[in-house]
Amino acid sequence: MTNSHYVNRRVLRINVGFLLAEGVGYQRELELDYPRVQLGDDLELDNLRGTVRLSRNSRGILVQADLETTVIMECSRCLTPTLVPVPLEIEELFTYPPLDDAAYSVEETGFLDLAPLLREEAILAMPMGVLCRPDCLGLCSECGQNLNEGPCNCEPDDIDPRFAILRDHLDDEETNTHHE
Ligand SMILES: [Zn+2]
Ligand SMILES: [Zn+2]
Repeated sequence: MTNSHYVNRRVLRINVGFLLAEGVGYQRELELDYPRVQLGDDLELDNLRGTVRLSRNSRGILVQADLETTVIMECSRCLTPTLVPVPLEIEELFTYPPLDDAAYSVEETGFLDLAPLLREEAILAMPMGVLCRPDCLGLCSECGQNLNEGPCNCEPDDIDPRFAILRDHLDDEETNTHHE
């Protein structure tokens, strides 16, 4: 990324070698505060903030995170890019030594990469239907104008083509009934 506001996702790779060396029960808290982290081509987290607690247990490192971030999603009615707050409450074990069948593992080198976990959790936490505002008027189905910016010039009695098909269908049925 050439944009200087982006923080390289490698900041989410944390050296936990010191925790692995300590006994079970040892823990460490980290504060995250990043303006923008790109997690893959299709997802960026803005203002990623909060606390990550890393605890050494007998199976590896338990990650407990209480984070908040915002993502940009399209309004489902008018397609305007909309900031959406996404809270991330995470509890996940990173096994150590690494296990092939574990969802997440600490790398042999002692690094723990939070990026894939945060990506997965953020995608799960993103709402399905986002509105830019509760009373978004959406786009005109005829001309595509964003009706939040004002009415378009389409005739007010224009009927959505999907309803027009239904109406014609009903007309046919009525006609048939009359013929019987
Ligand atoms: Zn909208
Ligand atoms: Zn229109």
